[in-house]
Amino acid sequence: MGDERKWVYGFDEVEAAEAYMGGSWDGVRGLMGGKGANLAEMTRVGVPVPPGFTVTTEACNAYLKAGAKFPGEMWEQALSALKHVEEQTGKTFGEASNPLLVSCRSGAKFSMPGMMDTVLNIGLNDDVAVGMVKLIGDDRFVYDSYRRLVQMFGTVVLGLESEPFEEVLSEYRKHHKVDNDAALPPEALKEVVERFKVLAPAFPQDPIDQLRLATEAVFKSWNGKRAFDYRNAAKIAHDLGTAVNIQTMVFGNMGMDSATGVAMTRDATTGEDHIEGDFLINAQGEDVVAGTRPTKAMDDMAVEMPGLYEEFRAIAKNLENHYREMQDMEFTVERGKLWILQTRDGKRTAQAAVRIAVDLAEEGLITKENAVMKVTPDQVDFFLHPQFSVEAKKAAVDAGSQIATGLNVSPGAAVGVVAFDADLAEKWSKEDGKKVIMVRPETKPDDVHGMLAAQGILTKLGGRTSHAALVARQFGKPAVVGVSALDIDMANRQMNVDGKVINEGDWISIDGTIGEVFLGALDTVIPDLSDPWLSKLLGWADEFRTLGVWANADYPLDAQRARQNGAEGIGLCRTEHMFFEPERIPVVQKMITTESDEERRQALDTLLPLQREDFAGLFRAMDGYPVIIRLIDPPLHEFLPAFEDLTGELAQLQIKTAAGDDVAAQLADTQDMLERVEALREANPMLGTRGVRLGIMMPDLTKMQVRAIIEAACIVSQEGVDVHPEVMIPLTSHVNELKRQQTVLEAEAKVVMEEQGVDVDYKFGTMIEIPRAAITAAEIAEYAQFFSFGTNDLTQTTFGISRDDAESGFLIDYLSEGILAENPFASIDEPGVGKLMEWAVEQGRATRPDLEVGICGEHGGDPKSIDLCHRLGLNYVSCSPFRVPIARLAAAQSAIIHK
Ligand code: PEP
Ligand code: MG
Repeated sequence: MGDERKWVYGFDEVEAAEAYMGGSWDGVRGLMGGKGANLAEMTRVGVPVPPGFTVTTEACNAYLKAGAKFPGEMWEQALSALKHVEEQTGKTFGEASNPLLVSCRSGAKFSMPGMMDTVLNIGLNDDVAVGMVKLIGDDRFVYDSYRRLVQMFGTVVLGLESEPFEEVLSEYRKHHKVDNDAALPPEALKEVVERFKVLAPAFPQDPIDQLRLATEAVFKSWNGKRAFDYRNAAKIAHDLGTAVNIQTMVFGNMGMDSATGVAMTRDATTGEDHIEGDFLINAQGEDVVAGTRPTKAMDDMAVEMPGLYEEFRAIAKNLENHYREMQDMEFTVERGKLWILQTRDGKRTAQAAVRIAVDLAEEGLITKENAVMKVTPDQVDFFLHPQFSVEAKKAAVDAGSQIATGLNVSPGAAVGVVAFDADLAEKWSKEDGKKVIMVRPETKPDDVHGMLAAQGILTKLGGRTSHAALVARQFGKPAVVGVSALDIDMANRQMNVDGKVINEGDWISIDGTIGEVFLGALDTVIPDLSDPWLSKLLGWADEFRTLGVWANADYPLDAQRARQNGAEGIGLCRTEHMFFEPERIPVVQKMITTESDEERRQALDTLLPLQREDFAGLFRAMDGYPVIIRLIDPPLHEFLPAFEDLTGELAQLQIKTAAGDDVAAQLADTQDMLERVEALREANPMLGTRGVRLGIMMPDLTKMQVRAIIEAACIVSQEGVDVHPEVMIPLTSHVNELKRQQTVLEAEAKVVMEEQGVDVDYKFGTMIEIPRAAITAAEIAEYAQFFSFGTNDLTQTTFGISRDDAESGFLIDYLSEGILAENPFASIDEPGVGKLMEWAVEQGRATRPDLEVGICGEHGGDPKSIDLCHRLGLNYVSCSPFRVPIARLAAAQSAIIHK
């Protein structure tokens, strides 16, 4: 007994598919594939779609599972669907006097452009060709269609090499002195067909056999290498299968009143509300996508075919309103009649994604909430991608290094060495760590792995909707295509541009934002966030999010950048960074090495006004917002010269002494320093005298820091600045540490305020970055008025792995072998570290209900970790100023998802 399922749905049977999937549209897309579902949906809303039917993804999966065998009644159902199409079109499949021709295309749930197979013009054979010539009187067109079928069938279905077919065509083009195949005379095309049939002896004359074999080829292409690689890169599941869409052929190459094109309802690069795309009069779809003939812009269609353009524009608006999303459409005009072949959500750049989301919301098609959900944190990240610096670009232009221009199809600046094929691009990037620009005549689906490994993509051919452009945009790779000035010589691995020779391995720079190509490696800069649509979108995100977004900033300039990017506080100022400044380091070293109390006090007195100024600058920049300043954290040896350097220096000095040089004073100093360094040396400094432990051992140092903080706060508050300092004690593991250190420091804060005669609103708190602190959070919260999770150390200490070494050591193997699914230093390990955090929040707030809890480890800028922080009820996340916009969006998305 076979499986009696319905395996085939006509485009006019979308209701039945919907019923089968329990009313779920996502289910229909899963069943019929994105393309099939859309064709059926377009048919339902009255868009002119050539009749056809879809063989489901379930059939594909059953076919592959059964070892290449159609399931149940699938083929009988397909044949009866074909009968229905014959009725709808009034044409008959395989009937020479009035033939129906069909296309057979793949269509998975998620779009995988060009990754699987397509066969066009199915139904043509020797007899049908003769009949069609009689019917339409255009033998050039008929034999051009026929040779396309044999060629595609040969390469796609029979798996033959494409070169022999191309060679035949090129021979005929040369002979007839034409530069494109469509211009060959009919007799030549007839001969080409015969030559092709010799190259593809298994090409079947029976149209039903053609259809069956093409269907099987599409099913099998799901497991092809390029489809498999693409799914890995795009994170698409491997078990979804592809549907097969069999659809009446309509022809854009039936004369000057015929055309074909691809167009987006909005500009896919900028997001502007303007139809953008390519079209060609008297051509078939593949001519447009492959970029083999120079295409025309849709604006030209408005001039050359005004009535049809208007009709297309109305349908485009209609579809965009229906799907509430920018659409990417394929169309054909056959003898003056417009047909829509396909529509899908259009791929776009990050800039366009933001603008389109905001515009759609402002046009009332979607809500602000939808708009915030439509843009990914990665796309916001892309706004922060490098662009060429103005100076570097000017210098390059002045030096004549701007060598070519092309289409700006995917924005951003990319710099790398030229690699002329995908395998080399991948090898150079992955194995040799080189930055690569992949340069090709045009890209094909087989090139995707190289494109992913490259910094940017440059092609000679192709338009805005070419394969290179689509893939580059999807993966945020800068790309310039259609650079006709490139003369690529694959045999000699070089290209010639206007007389300049560029060899494989030479540096070039490309600007995908405006479409320019430069010789050499240009300097890049991070742009600022002035895009008005992004500002609006992030403003909406702020309305939805409940998590605060703060920044980690050590200097006033960082703080200003953080404010510009929308930070609402500083979650971490690492004060030790200020000690590392070159003019301060000798004073810091004196403070650490001296045996004399007096000298130590002097050193601290020198540091005090410097620190005070640092903090005052931060408070001024963060007027009205909290500023968390962390007391010194690293072990003291980090401020001193390395032990190994000192022993080397000492040996040198001893040699000089033996040679009679007078270096006695230097020798004594080096000896002293070495002794001090030796005394401070620890086997595991990250687990040694650092953080609060150091503060307890050297209370004068942390007292000086607190004095500097509170004095600065008093001073700027008298200037009228609204200051909220929060003093953070690092690396606490036991409540008694906090009790001891905080008591001393609070007393100092009070003294300073009395001296200054000013009251400031301050808090004391601690980092939670040791598991014991998280576990005993209830006790810790008796002292701490705030917690900040230091997830860098908390991850290190929870796993017991070194944050400094692991990421370049065994962690790489752990990740590649799947022992850990994710790098815990990039995304919080929820079951382990996350559990400790959950417990600490709960216990801390049980003791102190108004306890402020945040995070300042690197995870504070990671969208997945931000989601965890939202769920745990943290007050804020704190991250690098550059990631603040990403965190604002991610926090809003978490708030919307978990509403
Ligand atoms: C942390 O440990 O997460 C933290 C923010 O502190 P640092 O990285 O300075 O140790
Ligand atoms: Mg830490």
